[in-house]
Amino acid sequence: MPGNLSAGSAGAARVAYDLAMPTLIVVDLQNDFLPGGALAVPHGDETVAVANAVMDRFTRVVATQDWHPRAHGSFAANQSGRAPGEVIELGGVVQVLWPVHCVQGTPGAEFAPGLQVERFTRVFVKGTDPGVDSYSGFFDNDRRSATGLGDHLLEIGETEVAVLGLATDYCVKATALDAHRLGLRVRLIVDGCRAVELQPGDGERAIAEMLAAGIEVVTSAELLAERSASV
Ligand SMILES: [Zn+2]
Repeated sequence: MPGNLSAGSAGAARVAYDLAMPTLIVVDLQNDFLPGGALAVPHGDETVAVANAVMDRFTRVVATQDWHPRAHGSFAANQSGRAPGEVIELGGVVQVLWPVHCVQGTPGAEFAPGLQVERFTRVFVKGTDPGVDSYSGFFDNDRRSATGLGDHLLEIGETEVAVLGLATDYCVKATALDAHRLGLRVRLIVDGCRAVELQPGDGERAIAEMLAAGIEVVTSAELLAERSASV
């Protein structure tokens, strides 16, 4: 501790440090995943206020952004005779076919209205290779390419992340599981997520899978109260 710091300023620094949580990963809070969007997640818009409410408590806020070329192979429209919801193989892995969504440079790919994007310290795009999808914010589904998020967290020495966004049963789950596999402590902010639920119960099953893997599930209220209590 430098000798010219007063006890008061040292104390203030300590409180700030204690309050600061590690990195928040905001997954795919984009127009096409909101009600009215091309691949609307029911009540997806309700996650925006949760994301905004918790951001202040994090040292860093990074975002993932689904960012597809128009010719992306996950779009049913690009697979002759196929409809959204059907399952094919793409890039050597099982692929659910989706409506055209989050095409690069279109309004549907933009972040949700009202989301405090100015708080994002980094944005990692995914799904840019037309030949393979990317649910995880870390790797393409064939795990051959990385988005850079893992390297970023490694470079800054991160050990703990919290995850929220859309959708629980696809990109949130894949991102949280990959973060856990990379050795990070992972907390899912459950009220900051909503599920697609192609099959009823997919959201609950995804949460159970994350819990079983060792991911902690918290509400935003619990997370905020936990740190307030420690001041
Ligand atoms: Zn996508």
